[in-house]
Amino acid sequence: MKTIPELIIDKAVWRYDDSSLHVKTSESGMHSDLYLNTDYIVSDVSLVEEIVEDIFLKELNLRNIKPDWVISYPPFGLAVAYALARQAGAKFGYVDIQTGLCNFDIKAGEKVIIVGDDIYSGGSIKKTIEIINSLGAKVQSPILTIGNFSGAEVLSGLEVISAISEKGNLYDENDCLMCKLGSKAVSPRQNWNELIKQHQAE
Ligand SMILES: [Zn+2]
Repeated sequence: MKTIPELIIDKAVWRYDDSSLHVKTSESGMHSDLYLNTDYIVSDVSLVEEIVEDIFLKELNLRNIKPDWVISYPPFGLAVAYALARQAGAKFGYVDIQTGLCNFDIKAGEKVIIVGDDIYSGGSIKKTIEIINSLGAKVQSPILTIGNFSGAEVLSGLEVISAISEKGNLYDENDCLMCKLGSKAVSPRQNWNELIKQHQAE
């Protein structure tokens, strides 16, 4: 029987291994040698429920946290946040990190748990925390994500708990080791089959 982290890695993780293609992340535009395609996680509804129950809900129960809201940001973390809200008996919502707005009726003092798909640079999670804080709500530790590749266990003063946690390397496009070795940077989700194909061929 495979563990949840093993299932996630088998289904949805790409790693650079002298590959002819590598990943340009959508979050920051940085090039990455590790990538989690959460499309392959969220489309497996029972796996999402399992991750949420065995890892996220367990963590909240251990800490005795009963959130009023579970909040994410579109698109990839929404299904995970919705599953946690359902299991935790909380309300579900999301912020718009482009406009800095949250149109859900979150009241000052309410307890909020933030869920994301994954963390590379942490920019989207930090923006989400800022937006929720600006409403006067209380963002609780921990932040919950499927993957954490930042190498950081704390973000904006909040602990991070993830189903899989590993240190990836991010490179500026002008200073990318993989580009220098002749590998081409591509958007991972649009080129997923190509990325994984060369992976399996090795
Ligand atoms: Zn590169």
